[in-house]
Amino acid sequence: MSSNLGEAGGFLRTLPHLDAPDVQVTASPAMFLDEGLTAPYDHAFMLGPTLLRPTSRGKVSLRTTMPGSEPRIVHNYLTTEEDRQTAVRGVQMLLEVAEQPAFKAHRRAPLSVPESESEADVLRFARRVMNSLFHPVGTCAIGGVVDPRLRVLGVDGLRVVDASVMPTLVRGNTNAATIMIGEKAADLIRGHAR
Ligand SMILES: Cc1cc2nc3c(=O)[nH]c(=O)nc-3n(C[C@H](O)[C@H](O)[C@H](O)COP(=O)(O)OP(=O)(O)OC[C@H]3O[C@@H](n4cnc5c(N)ncnc54)[C@H](O)[C@@H]3O)c2cc1C
Repeated sequence: MSSNLGEAGGFLRTLPHLDAPDVQVTASPAMFLDEGLTAPYDHAFMLGPTLLRPTSRGKVSLRTTMPGSEPRIVHNYLTTEEDRQTAVRGVQMLLEVAEQPAFKAHRRAPLSVPESESEADVLRFARRVMNSLFHPVGTCAIGGVVDPRLRVLGVDGLRVVDASVMPTLVRGNTNAATIMIGEKAADLIRGHAR
């Protein structure tokens, strides 16, 4: 556990006609259990699919009017048929990858896999084990809450500059894109950009 775990990755089109990948693969050379909260108890490798363009929409709202109160966060994962189908195809493709000789040579026992590769079993499995890859965006989306110069609509002198202004996910990890938004916002505020 001396690495960031996500040591290998890739991008998949789960349907041949897609013009861009819809699933990101994260591969780790160790157990990653309960979002890292449970210690690994043996050697393992794991492969996980992440939906890059989920159509399910979560929600962040206030619990109280006190600014210090924690917000209510509802993820709503897999609430659209499209997302359920993509998740199923992503898991099925990674099961196939794990069957290849290079991986098979290192496998002993399954750690966290569906009962079978059938759609119903894979979906049940996805619902049970699915968690976040920590890339939430869109709660203050450009066009909805802020304008393209990141100014909050209807409020003077207030901008939002963070991952929440992305209207959709960037088909990948969000940190670099967020840094870019910060740099762009600095230029906008200083009047160095249009
Ligand atoms: C566990 C985890 C792993 C991740 N791994 C990756 C990765 O490998 N690659 C990648 O690209 N992205 C990764 N991400 C996503 C990436 O970290 C985020 O997309 C990015 O940090 C978002 O930047 P942000 O500025 O919107 O929010 P944040 O980075 O969360 O910044 C918000 C800041 O506001 C501060 N803050 C909060 N409340 C207040 C307050 N009331 N007053 C003052 N300050 C406040 C917080 O302390 C924090 O510094 C990961 C995220 C998590 C949680």
